[in-house]
Amino acid sequence: MIVIKGVAASPGIAVGRAYVVEDEDIVVERVEIPRDALSEEVRRFKAAQKATYRDLDAAEEKVLKVLGRQHAKLIDAHRLILRDTLITRDVPKRILSEGVNAEFALSEALEGVNRQFEKMDDEFFRERRHDLFDVGKRLLLHLMRRQKRNLSEIDQECVLIARNLLPSDTLGLKETRILGFATDLGGKTSHTALLAQSLQIPAVVGLTDGSRRVRTGETVILDGEQGLVIVGPEPQTLARYEKLKESVRAAERSLEALKGLPTVTLDGRSFRLEVNLDSPEDIKAVAALRADGIGLFRTEALFLNRPDLPSEEEQAKAYASVLKAMDGREVVVRTADIGGDRLSQMGIEGPKSETNPFMGLRGVRLFLRHPDLFKTQLRAILRASPKGKARVLIPMVSSVGEAVAARRLLEQARAELEAEGIEIAPDVEFGIMVEVPSAALILDAFLPHVDFVSIGTNDLIQYVLAVDRVNEHVANLYDPYHPAVLRLLDQIVSAARKRGKWTAVCGEMTSDPRAVALLVGLGVDALSVSPRLFLRIKQAVRGLRYDAMRKLVVKASACAESEDVRRLLDRAQ
Ligand code: PEP
Ligand code: MG
Repeated sequence: MIVIKGVAASPGIAVGRAYVVEDEDIVVERVEIPRDALSEEVRRFKAAQKATYRDLDAAEEKVLKVLGRQHAKLIDAHRLILRDTLITRDVPKRILSEGVNAEFALSEALEGVNRQFEKMDDEFFRERRHDLFDVGKRLLLHLMRRQKRNLSEIDQECVLIARNLLPSDTLGLKETRILGFATDLGGKTSHTALLAQSLQIPAVVGLTDGSRRVRTGETVILDGEQGLVIVGPEPQTLARYEKLKESVRAAERSLEALKGLPTVTLDGRSFRLEVNLDSPEDIKAVAALRADGIGLFRTEALFLNRPDLPSEEEQAKAYASVLKAMDGREVVVRTADIGGDRLSQMGIEGPKSETNPFMGLRGVRLFLRHPDLFKTQLRAILRASPKGKARVLIPMVSSVGEAVAARRLLEQARAELEAEGIEIAPDVEFGIMVEVPSAALILDAFLPHVDFVSIGTNDLIQYVLAVDRVNEHVANLYDPYHPAVLRLLDQIVSAARKRGKWTAVCGEMTSDPRAVALLVGLGVDALSVSPRLFLRIKQAVRGLRYDAMRKLVVKASACAESEDVRRLLDRAQ
């Protein structure tokens, strides 16, 4: 039995056979590349080569530590292969002369050498081809990371284990019968983890090299509560987990009684408790929770997994169906936050090969470069607005100018639609996500231009602490309890309150029953929670006293270490 520790990303327990998404699953397709794009293809190949060098450096460091210098020489052999003319010269030559994609050129070159190796009598040399393939596979992985895998074709009940899943992969899991998934990469607030919650399947991320320690067909337990993957469990462990699974289910069933009850603390302070909606298709399940509204409608799903863009008509229909399902309760529609770890295949020029995509062209930045796309989405939201209570929310705003430009586009869209005689609701409020420290620090300058603010703790924490939210190596540093985060949150809420603007929080911090106590103490107006945890959070808030939490926040903000904050919380609860 092996126990692999990762990060709990989506609660629940799954027991089943592992399905490991292996490198071998890679199917290299031949793609004709237009003549004028061939040099870009060679550049892409060179970038993969560079990334492979970096891999080897990292591998060498590990081997040195664990096995010593002697074994580290193996890595040198791989470096030599990477420097071989087969790689450095033949592959670019094939790309240019045959007009094909880099993956295909590489696999053809490898296949050619394989045939030569097979002819050799000397076993030592024959076996060297494995090293060649190892290097080739690394290169292919780097090249293909940007390509779409089709996991939606998995047609068996299984626990999916992969090195990495992109949000677009995860969306594809909807149609499958997978019981849960675990990945080597990723942090708790990676969009892949958030999607797992909205798919209501247990997930563990950040296993580091876990996918290499599991084989397809092995029995595994995926513990999304504690962030564990147990491979080949002993019978007692299996029995214990079967019981645990049942008790988690029973606890969930008992939470059902909370549906429709108000979210009010023991001392009478009420909160709007809302849900995050990650895809319009989830609306039925979300509406059944009888939340006070949708505090964050992430619209990116409409843009992913397709070669074209959703039309105004298509978008308006999707927004209208969500507004209708929520029956007059508010729906905060966030304009698409593409970029970061959510790459689109739709060919918008920009966030394809950034070295630091979370700090790159994403959210409002991307849309302000493409005002036509921005306007299409704003028009679609306004067209849907008579169906309910719509609000518009703009992501990744870092300067007042961006907020003003977005608002201007919204007003333009309104004027256009009015001129076309199309009905629009008169009171569509306009808000910004506060998720970049610059916006948090000078929020007072933004407030005259907005009706409300919604705090995105997922990004705010990553930018305040300089901790990439999807990097498993720093997952332990991603810390919602850091006093710097708390002070900043307190500052945001007080600034907005002073100017009579309402505040919501829609990051994952709302979905952590312990952390939510701090948000209650901050006195925000609304909390928007992942649907999977909605009732657990309602139960948590209903068990708190606002006054006590307010005092706790004041004390916690004066702490020096997050450990002190955690201790205060443990003592209070
Ligand atoms: C956030 O950053 O907290 C947020 C809610 O937005 P997203 O997770 O989609 O970036
Ligand atoms: Mg965000």
